[in-house]
Amino acid sequence: SKGAALVSAVAQRLASRRRQVDETLAPFRLSQEQLQLVKTRMRAGLEAGLKSKGPSTIKMLPSFVYRTPDGTEKGKYLALDLGGTNFRALLVNFKKGLQHNVRLYHKIYTIPQEIMQGTGEELFDHIAQCVSDFLDYMGMKNAHLPAGFTFSFPCEQTAIDTGTLVSWTKGYKATDCEGHDVVSLLREAIKRRNEFDLDIVAVVNDTVGTMMSCAYEDPQCEIGLIAGTGTNVCYMEELKNIEKTEHKFGKTEEGEKEEHMQDEGTEGEKKEGDAEIPKMCINTEWGGLGDDGSLDDIITPYDVEVNQNSLNPGKQRFEKLTSGMYLGEVVRQVLLDLTRGGLLFRGHVTETLKTPGIFQTKYLSQIESDRLALLQVRSILQQLGLNSTCDDSIIVKEVCGAVSRRAAQLCGAGMAAVVEKIRENRGLDHLNITVGVDGALYKLHPHFAGVLQETARILAPQCNVTFLPSEEGSGKGAALITAVARQKHD
Ligand code: BGC
Ligand code: MG
Repeated sequence: SKGAALVSAVAQRLASRRRQVDETLAPFRLSQEQLQLVKTRMRAGLEAGLKSKGPSTIKMLPSFVYRTPDGTEKGKYLALDLGGTNFRALLVNFKKGLQHNVRLYHKIYTIPQEIMQGTGEELFDHIAQCVSDFLDYMGMKNAHLPAGFTFSFPCEQTAIDTGTLVSWTKGYKATDCEGHDVVSLLREAIKRRNEFDLDIVAVVNDTVGTMMSCAYEDPQCEIGLIAGTGTNVCYMEELKNIEKTEHKFGKTEEGEKEEHMQDEGTEGEKKEGDAEIPKMCINTEWGGLGDDGSLDDIITPYDVEVNQNSLNPGKQRFEKLTSGMYLGEVVRQVLLDLTRGGLLFRGHVTETLKTPGIFQTKYLSQIESDRLALLQVRSILQQLGLNSTCDDSIIVKEVCGAVSRRAAQLCGAGMAAVVEKIRENRGLDHLNITVGVDGALYKLHPHFAGVLQETARILAPQCNVTFLPSEEGSGKGAALITAVARQKHD
């Protein structure tokens, strides 16, 4: 009959639509073998970065942080945190001798895009202005406090208080900063203002701050992970494995080692077993994996597009597969393709869909929430200016799921490489370790954390990895590092 023929035609169309969507998403679904390969490549990248004195895809930057906190830190510190869309100023007070007694005040300032991508002078003047406002707010303009500067970009450090910006990442591209010491840039901006004084004691990557703040709670924490706007990992590496710093330390290396060992001798909590081994925290900058083409076999045409449209084409390829700043863009590229193929939004490519940046991480998190009914997915898309049918919203949710799942799996594979490296360093059959974590993707996405953990567990079966979300991670951590750096001088 006619009716039956119609039904079967509709069914066929649906089946074919389903097949085409599945085909589109297939390259995002990584096999165990592929993830294993990523782990192997990450491991090779870590090793190469530790050895290489010149540039390497994974930079493995020394942080000049020699130990995690031991609970004896005390005093008042200012922490300045620049890295994502916001600048944060914090006042952190570690109460005398009492562990885990921390008071914290903070204020958040947005950094407008014109400033992120203007001149370096404007950027640092803006930061100095925010600091000035914060000091006014706290009534501490004349306090001359020691400050830690959390600066969440790759910096080549030669001491705890100097860091030369290697290259901007994420949404930043201010001029005249790359190749310059960012601590000097900040000091100069404060001097130009000629209004208050700061003693900038440390420059700290956000991963290092996060590790430190979590280690304050859990002495087994020797790794810091950021899964947010950008992605990165730091971990405690044995000094003897950091071959490239030998020439920098020269004669002082022994001195640093001794000082480090004295630190361990204070009355604080001791780590079991390996407290005697001199270490330094290494900021891996793992987001650079693949910048030599080593991830080309898993990179999809959508990733190629996102890379080309980014502020730093060819750079941070792993980051572009795994972090909040880019996931929404990958999703958008897939949706564009499906729409052009007539598989979505009735084939209408709207201006909205052509707008970079519409899918922020928070929308991905909402769309993927299991508690959300499809009708609510539709209403989110509606808010974004996308008119969807019920079928459309199912597909959009699937696309988001495939892209974010791949991101979490890749991070998990990377993490497996890091914990295996630490396990082998220590010559252990089994390693228990804690990872301090921060970032909106980790903290707010409904599935990211679970998939990350599961992947790390499967790919590093000899390691028991605990993920500990940090509270006020990078800020509190910067203050702790400042405290540790200060103790040496007192
Ligand atoms: C930067 C890292 C930073 C990470 C997370 C990356 O883009 O290169 O230094 O730790 O983002 O904020
Ligand atoms: Mg941050």
